[in-house]
Amino acid sequence: MTVTDPHAILTVDLDAVAANWRTLRAEHPSGPVAAVLKADGYGLGAGPVSRRLYREGCRTFFTAHVTEAAAIAPDMPGATVAVLHGLGGGSSRAFVNSTPRSLSHARVVPVLGSLAEIEAWAGFGLPAMLHIDTGMNRLGLDQPALRAVRADPGRLAGIEWLCVMTHFVSSERPGDPQNAAQMADFADACAGLPAMPRSLANSSGVFLPAPSDLARPGAALFGVNPTPGRPNPMRGVVTLTAPVLSVRDVPAGTTVGYNGQWRAARASRIATVAVGYADGWLRSHANRGAARFDGKAVPLVGRVSMDMTTFDATDHPGLMPGARVELIGPGCPPDTVAEAAGTNGYEVLTALGRRYERRYLGA
Ligand SMILES: *Cc1c(COP(=O)(O)O)cnc(C)c1O
Repeated sequence: MTVTDPHAILTVDLDAVAANWRTLRAEHPSGPVAAVLKADGYGLGAGPVSRRLYREGCRTFFTAHVTEAAAIAPDMPGATVAVLHGLGGGSSRAFVNSTPRSLSHARVVPVLGSLAEIEAWAGFGLPAMLHIDTGMNRLGLDQPALRAVRADPGRLAGIEWLCVMTHFVSSERPGDPQNAAQMADFADACAGLPAMPRSLANSSGVFLPAPSDLARPGAALFGVNPTPGRPNPMRGVVTLTAPVLSVRDVPAGTTVGYNGQWRAARASRIATVAVGYADGWLRSHANRGAARFDGKAVPLVGRVSMDMTTFDATDHPGLMPGARVELIGPGCPPDTVAEAAGTNGYEVLTALGRRYERRYLGA
């Protein structure tokens, strides 16, 4: 395929995101399914994704930062965007001031996870979500805080509680005993609180027997396999292609790239492609990653440069300047790309750079 675009193109299939959301809904009949869109929607664009999912019927969204929440809130009447970082170390006033107040906007609420945050928010009479820690030890009420709340339920007064949540440590490992332990601890904690909806499952949690009143998947919406080691029930969302800038023949024994980290074992054809670590094509792909061309793997050779990456095109005579290789797509989904770089699909997606031409299908 020869095209005139001189740069890498990132295509995000919003119809596939919507289909994935419907799949997750079917897997979680016990309650609605939210969409976690932190880090700009896992790097794919929280704006287009939230608008598409709102159209699809999704009414609860999560971001990490309040600024991310404020950015997607417009034109989503009746929706809620919850901020996982809570008050983010700032004041309630600062939180309220950074969120839009309009009936045409989603309401933005904090997820509160400490006694100090609860106290700071209580005077406002505004809604919030409550986070309970059952093992992550990052955010959420810890055991002493939970005991304090139980001893004095008045501490929760003055806040309209939308739901209480906890977060799994290892939900992608269905056999991990910590899943059941966290479910039991969460049920215990909730029993000591005023009645409110309970939110439990992230992407992989949706596929555990862990019913809840609100699921919170993120990665699965974007095609990352929530059931590692088993067939991926999600549809692919991302296609990343990049053009070949140059092709050259090198004799056996030639090295390619910085520090000569790859040496041609035979006379070879090297294709230089316009994507590099500045685009989120991780440096850890060196000598391990691959692209696809005409449905076949093209091995990545040598180090990844900032703006370029080299591939062994010896067995791909069609790979000429102007042709495009596929870096993420049906033949190389994010999980596979991640494996070659020693990371996970989450990092591959959230690392995707700002230089790509972005195309949204089904917007
Ligand atoms: C990131 C996050 C999620 C979504 O996790 P996925 O594994 O991407 O589905 C849900 N809940 C919390 C608290 C999170 O931080």
